[in-house]
Amino acid sequence: MSNKRLLNPAPDDRSPLAGLTGNISHCWRCSHCKWTPSPKSNAFAHACPSIQWGQFHAYSGGGKVITAFALKEGEAQYTETALQSVFACTMCGACDTSCKTNNAELVEPLSILYALRAHIAQEGHSLPVHLQMRDNLRQHGNALGRPRNERSLWSEGLALKDALAEQVDVLLLIGCDYAFDQALWPELHAIVRLLRSAGVDFGVAHAAEVSTGEGAYDLGFQDDARELAKQMAQVIARSGARQVVSCSASSFAGIRNIWPRLGLPTLAQPILHVTEFIDDLFEAGRLTLLKGEPVTVTYHDPCKLGRLSEQVVPSDTRWTKVLNTMSVHEAPKQVLFGNDGVYEPPRRLLERVAGLQLVEMERNRVGSYCCGGAGGAPEAFPDFARFAAQNRLDEARSTGAEVLATACGGCRRHLADVASATGGNIRVMGLFEILAGCVDVPVQER
Ligand code: SF4
Ligand code: SF4
Repeated sequence: MSNKRLLNPAPDDRSPLAGLTGNISHCWRCSHCKWTPSPKSNAFAHACPSIQWGQFHAYSGGGKVITAFALKEGEAQYTETALQSVFACTMCGACDTSCKTNNAELVEPLSILYALRAHIAQEGHSLPVHLQMRDNLRQHGNALGRPRNERSLWSEGLALKDALAEQVDVLLLIGCDYAFDQALWPELHAIVRLLRSAGVDFGVAHAAEVSTGEGAYDLGFQDDARELAKQMAQVIARSGARQVVSCSASSFAGIRNIWPRLGLPTLAQPILHVTEFIDDLFEAGRLTLLKGEPVTVTYHDPCKLGRLSEQVVPSDTRWTKVLNTMSVHEAPKQVLFGNDGVYEPPRRLLERVAGLQLVEMERNRVGSYCCGGAGGAPEAFPDFARFAAQNRLDEARSTGAEVLATACGGCRRHLADVASATGGNIRVMGLFEILAGCVDVPVQER
């Protein structure tokens, strides 16, 4: 393939990978994507659960970049092994952050991973379990296959405002994990108590809410992701709310990071994650925690709330050759290092609890290690997903913490499931589960 063609796609190239061959060509197999940018110990130096589990270069971010090119150019087959190396991956983006720490925007492994999965879907080689998730999204608006009318079971008896029927200041997005997993409902109830205590005028979209499409995008089903995103954008617009607040880290990441990749316009309203919004309420003096208990907590940064929630600004990605040697982007390009995720508000909320001591894991904030619970990995490769969670639980235990807290329903469920199956002396809790015990406002008070 000519160098010119490698840098920019041929006009008739319809592969989702077509515009990324220039990036692929810049991977120089340095393997930085396997390791956290600033390791503190051998035990927790890995950035990528996939290579740590697969123990073969193809499982790393860089390995998947090479696989992408080989599959696109017909130099590799869609074997079971090749597909496992692609899909035993949580789409956590740690490889992307590590690569950019060393190579800036030259490669962008995560963008290539998204396009690789879309290319595989286009070629008809998606995994059956992921096709089932896609069909669930098409039929029910959620990957779990749960009926739409079960979406508001969590709020029965709470008399929440319907944001599509009544004017509200704040539209509260719930997300699929929180809506359908009963174990997560106490967190939603705590959020309702806090919002009511602060006098926030909010409502929910009840059964009209659907996935924001980020899950479908992770699996490679970009057209389905766009359709879901459009549906959700219409729901938000119909609400007329002046502010959107997302309880779900996945929905938050979907709107800020995936919708721009799908070509959707920026929301008319500002969007915050619920940890940011409630932290602001405390800052403004509208909320006060009344009690707490002495406990040591370590906080797990969810990938979707951290490096994957950066606001994407679409930019010109065409490459050009300068001085007959270097290839550069024709226009300045946004580089997503992951630093603009939501890292401090959840920590500030925890630190407001009297007696709570927060201790950090070695891999934190932008360098957080994935829990293993996303990207279609638990459904397709449960052993791999459990392996990642076990690794994260080991790291949490190494801090001496009694509680591992997180602000993502998916992380909480996956980590709690693995913790209870494997034993050990740490309790996994949702952040708002902890706060729920510290406010003296009854859930039904308005
Ligand atoms: S993806 Fe980036 S970090 Fe990984 S091998 Fe390629 S250039 Fe190095
Ligand atoms: S997205 Fe995460 S699991 Fe997948 S290759 Fe990158 S670091 Fe590894």
